[in-house]
Amino acid sequence: MSALLEVRHVTRKFGGLTANNDISFDVKEYEILSVIGPNGAGKSTLFKMISSFLPTTSGEVLYKGERISNLKPHVVARKGIVRTFQETTIFKSMTVRESIVVAQHLRAKASLAGYFWGSRTAQEDVESFGSYADDLIDFLGMSAIANEQASNLPQGNLRALGIAIGLATDPKVLLLDEPFAGMNHDETMRMVDLVRKVRDERGVTVLLVEHDMPAVMKISDRIVVLNFGEKIAEGTPVEIQNDERVIEAYLGSADDEIGM
Ligand code: ADP
Ligand code: MG
Repeated sequence: MSALLEVRHVTRKFGGLTANNDISFDVKEYEILSVIGPNGAGKSTLFKMISSFLPTTSGEVLYKGERISNLKPHVVARKGIVRTFQETTIFKSMTVRESIVVAQHLRAKASLAGYFWGSRTAQEDVESFGSYADDLIDFLGMSAIANEQASNLPQGNLRALGIAIGLATDPKVLLLDEPFAGMNHDETMRMVDLVRKVRDERGVTVLLVEHDMPAVMKISDRIVVLNFGEKIAEGTPVEIQNDERVIEAYLGSADDEIGM
């Protein structure tokens, strides 16, 4: 299978600090690829460059052979590369269902003004959005909490809502930055199943940054390892677990929250 995303010699500097140095790897269509590494390794910076929330200092990211780095984030989102946010603050005053409906406006035909003024297209959108939102809620197993206010949800449900909001925009590639953070083992394993289901049944390619090693090993087809902004390894979970440089990077790390 050919590459859907190509990260090519990507470097990002913040003043004198090199957060990513000459990073290259491919992501295949329908793959679940995890990016791991100690705190400060450059994982979030890399995700921000792939989703164009940050420009690269040099190098480029290609999607289906076309450059997507250094474009406007909404342009990249419209192409289907969507990053979910850890904070879904803006949606907290809404219910789960309302959040999902609103999120779908990213791919709406009608303008937001048309939506409020009740133009015909907007009316049609609201109807199709509503039924798609219900499909998604059903698919994600969130029916019981569909009418709950987001601000009342526990952490695990909030994360699932974050994924639902991302999925509402009909992504081709979903970037999840620490989707299991703050979850207990059972919640994490439920989310692992959910992310796999998103890939299997919705045909979404998934990139994820995660600290929870058992979850990473279970969910990933392949893993890319960063350390101090450098790519130090790439391979299957088994290859990564046995990689000398990876073991050393984690054992040598003072902030050993990874626990490999
Ligand atoms: P990770 O997600 O792997 O923990 P990050 O990509 O967030 O790491 O950060 C990598 C390095 O870049 C860190 O040293 C961090 O302090 C630095 N960094 C990240 N974002 C910025 C920024 N906007 N300005 C300056 N330095 C930054
Ligand atoms: Mg990070």
